[in-house]
Amino acid sequence: MKALIVIDYTYDFVEGNLPVGQPAIDIQETIVALTQKYVDQDDFVVMAVDLHEENDSYHPETALFPPHNIRGTHGRELYGDLADVYNRNQQSIYWVDKSRYSAFCGTNLDIALKERGITEVHLVGVCTDICILHTAVDAYNKGYGITVFEDAVASFNPHGHEWALEHFKGSLGAQVIRSSK
Ligand code: ZN
Repeated sequence: MKALIVIDYTYDFVEGNLPVGQPAIDIQETIVALTQKYVDQDDFVVMAVDLHEENDSYHPETALFPPHNIRGTHGRELYGDLADVYNRNQQSIYWVDKSRYSAFCGTNLDIALKERGITEVHLVGVCTDICILHTAVDAYNKGYGITVFEDAVASFNPHGHEWALEHFKGSLGAQVIRSSK
Protein backbone atom coordinates (compact mmCIF):
# COMPACT_ATOMS: atom_id res chain seq x y z
CA MET A 1 0.00 0.00 0.00
CA LYS A 2 1.21 3.47 -0.85
CA ALA A 3 0.45 7.02 0.26
CA LEU A 4 0.97 10.36 -1.46
CA ILE A 5 2.33 13.02 0.88
CA VAL A 6 2.00 16.60 -0.38
CA ILE A 7 4.39 18.77 1.59
CA ASP A 8 4.14 22.52 2.28
CA TYR A 9 2.54 23.57 -1.00
CA THR A 10 1.20 26.84 0.46
CA TYR A 11 1.26 30.51 -0.61
CA ASP A 12 4.11 31.39 1.74
CA PHE A 13 6.36 28.68 0.29
CA VAL A 14 5.37 29.25 -3.34
CA GLU A 15 5.29 33.04 -3.64
CA GLY A 16 4.78 34.48 -0.13
CA ASN A 17 6.99 35.08 2.90
CA LEU A 18 9.48 32.26 2.25
CA PRO A 19 9.12 31.72 -1.47
CA VAL A 20 10.62 29.06 -3.67
CA GLY A 21 9.29 31.16 -6.57
CA GLN A 22 9.02 30.12 -10.19
CA PRO A 23 10.24 26.52 -9.76
CA ALA A 24 7.37 26.00 -7.26
CA ILE A 25 4.82 27.68 -9.53
CA ASP A 26 5.99 25.44 -12.40
CA ILE A 27 5.09 22.23 -10.53
CA GLN A 28 1.55 23.31 -9.61
CA GLU A 29 -0.17 21.45 -12.44
CA THR A 30 1.74 18.23 -11.73
CA ILE A 31 1.05 18.34 -7.98
CA VAL A 32 -2.64 18.99 -8.60
CA ALA A 33 -2.88 16.18 -11.20
CA LEU A 34 -1.06 13.69 -8.95
CA THR A 35 -3.22 14.59 -5.93
CA GLN A 36 -6.41 14.10 -7.92
CA LYS A 37 -5.08 10.85 -9.41
CA TYR A 38 -4.21 9.34 -5.99
CA VAL A 39 -7.57 10.43 -4.56
CA ASP A 40 -9.36 8.84 -7.53
CA GLN A 41 -7.33 5.64 -7.02
CA ASP A 42 -8.44 5.57 -3.35
CA ASP A 43 -4.84 5.84 -2.22
CA PHE A 44 -4.15 7.52 1.12
CA VAL A 45 -3.40 11.20 0.44
CA VAL A 46 -1.83 13.44 3.09
CA MET A 47 -1.46 17.22 3.15
CA ALA A 48 1.50 17.85 5.46
CA VAL A 49 1.52 21.57 6.17
CA ASP A 50 3.92 23.63 8.25
CA LEU A 51 2.26 25.43 11.17
CA HIS A 52 3.85 28.24 13.14
CA GLU A 53 2.64 30.62 15.82
CA GLU A 54 3.41 34.32 15.63
CA ASN A 55 6.55 35.46 17.50
CA ASP A 56 7.40 31.98 18.73
CA SER A 57 10.71 32.66 20.47
CA TYR A 58 11.18 28.97 21.32
CA HIS A 59 11.06 27.74 17.74
CA PRO A 60 14.50 27.23 16.13
CA GLU A 61 13.24 28.44 12.72
CA THR A 62 12.50 31.89 14.19
CA ALA A 63 16.24 32.64 14.03
CA LEU A 64 16.66 31.08 10.58
CA PHE A 65 13.77 32.24 8.40
CA PRO A 66 11.25 35.06 8.07
CA PRO A 67 7.86 34.31 9.67
CA HIS A 68 5.94 31.85 7.47
CA ASN A 69 2.86 29.61 7.54
CA ILE A 70 1.54 31.43 10.61
CA ARG A 71 -1.72 29.95 11.92
CA GLY A 72 -4.79 31.51 10.35
CA THR A 73 -2.99 33.54 7.66
CA HIS A 74 -3.44 33.49 3.89
CA GLY A 75 0.19 32.43 3.58
CA ARG A 76 -0.65 29.08 5.14
CA GLU A 77 -3.44 28.27 2.65
CA LEU A 78 -2.82 25.66 -0.02
CA TYR A 79 -1.55 27.29 -3.20
CA GLY A 80 -3.66 27.78 -6.31
CA ASP A 81 -5.64 24.86 -7.70
CA LEU A 82 -4.41 22.52 -4.95
CA ALA A 83 -6.86 24.30 -2.61
CA ASP A 84 -9.74 23.37 -4.96
CA VAL A 85 -8.69 19.72 -5.09
CA TYR A 86 -8.44 19.66 -1.31
CA ASN A 87 -11.81 21.36 -0.82
CA ARG A 88 -13.52 18.95 -3.23
CA ASN A 89 -11.98 15.89 -1.54
CA GLN A 90 -11.66 16.96 2.08
CA GLN A 91 -13.34 13.81 3.35
CA SER A 92 -10.68 11.61 1.76
CA ILE A 93 -7.54 13.74 2.28
CA TYR A 94 -5.75 13.55 5.62
CA TRP A 95 -4.42 16.84 7.01
CA VAL A 96 -1.24 16.88 9.12
CA ASP A 97 -0.08 20.04 10.88
CA LYS A 98 3.67 19.86 11.23
CA SER A 99 5.99 22.24 13.05
CA ARG A 100 9.35 20.90 11.94
CA TYR A 101 10.82 20.12 8.51
CA SER A 102 9.87 16.45 8.65
CA ALA A 103 6.20 15.53 8.36
CA PHE A 104 6.91 12.73 10.86
CA CYS A 105 8.35 14.94 13.62
CA GLY A 106 5.86 15.42 16.46
CA THR A 107 2.89 14.31 14.33
CA ASN A 108 0.76 11.17 14.14
CA LEU A 109 1.72 10.55 10.50
CA ASP A 110 3.63 7.32 11.23
CA ILE A 111 0.66 5.89 13.16
CA ALA A 112 -1.81 6.95 10.46
CA LEU A 113 0.30 5.22 7.79
CA LYS A 114 0.80 2.05 9.83
CA GLU A 115 -2.92 1.81 10.67
CA ARG A 116 -3.61 1.70 6.95
CA GLY A 117 -0.93 -0.85 6.16
CA ILE A 118 1.07 1.62 4.11
CA THR A 119 4.66 0.65 3.39
CA GLU A 120 5.56 3.13 0.67
CA VAL A 121 5.44 6.92 0.65
CA HIS A 122 5.36 9.05 -2.49
CA LEU A 123 6.57 12.59 -1.93
CA VAL A 124 5.77 15.86 -3.71
CA GLY A 125 5.91 19.54 -2.73
CA VAL A 126 8.52 21.96 -1.44
CA CYS A 127 11.23 22.34 -0.83
CA THR A 128 13.30 19.47 -2.14
CA ASP A 129 16.36 19.92 0.07
CA ILE A 130 14.62 20.87 3.32
CA CYS A 131 11.15 19.51 4.13
CA ILE A 132 11.05 16.83 1.43
CA LEU A 133 14.58 15.76 2.43
CA HIS A 134 13.89 15.59 6.18
CA THR A 135 10.61 13.73 5.60
CA ALA A 136 12.38 11.28 3.30
CA VAL A 137 15.16 10.67 5.86
CA ASP A 138 12.59 9.91 8.57
CA ALA A 139 10.63 7.67 6.19
CA TYR A 140 13.86 5.79 5.42
CA ASN A 141 14.70 5.35 9.10
CA LYS A 142 11.19 4.08 9.81
CA GLY A 143 11.49 1.49 7.02
CA TYR A 144 9.20 2.95 4.36
CA GLY A 145 9.91 2.62 0.68
CA ILE A 146 10.22 6.05 -0.92
CA THR A 147 9.32 7.49 -4.30
CA VAL A 148 10.00 11.14 -5.16
CA PHE A 149 8.43 12.75 -8.22
CA GLU A 150 11.23 14.91 -9.54
CA ASP A 151 8.82 17.00 -11.62
CA ALA A 152 6.67 17.68 -8.54
CA VAL A 153 9.32 18.88 -6.08
CA ALA A 154 11.14 22.23 -6.18
CA SER A 155 13.59 24.39 -4.28
CA PHE A 156 14.85 27.98 -4.23
CA ASN A 157 18.32 26.43 -4.32
CA PRO A 158 19.04 24.70 -7.67
CA HIS A 159 22.20 23.07 -6.31
CA GLY A 160 20.38 21.82 -3.19
CA HIS A 161 17.57 20.48 -5.37
CA GLU A 162 19.96 18.42 -7.51
CA TRP A 163 21.97 17.27 -4.48
CA ALA A 164 18.82 16.10 -2.69
CA LEU A 165 17.59 14.13 -5.72
CA GLU A 166 20.94 12.31 -5.78
CA HIS A 167 20.77 11.73 -2.02
CA PHE A 168 17.27 10.23 -2.29
CA LYS A 169 18.57 7.75 -4.87
CA GLY A 170 22.06 7.05 -3.60
CA SER A 171 21.55 7.06 0.17
CA LEU A 172 17.84 6.48 0.82
CA GLY A 173 17.23 3.93 -1.93
CA ALA A 174 14.38 6.04 -3.29
CA GLN A 175 12.87 5.83 -6.72
CA VAL A 176 13.21 9.26 -8.28
CA ILE A 177 10.81 9.34 -11.20
CA ARG A 178 8.81 11.68 -13.39
CA SER A 179 5.02 11.64 -13.19
CA SER A 180 3.33 10.01 -16.16
CA LYS A 181 0.99 12.96 -16.61
ZN1 ZN B 1 8.61 26.32 9.05
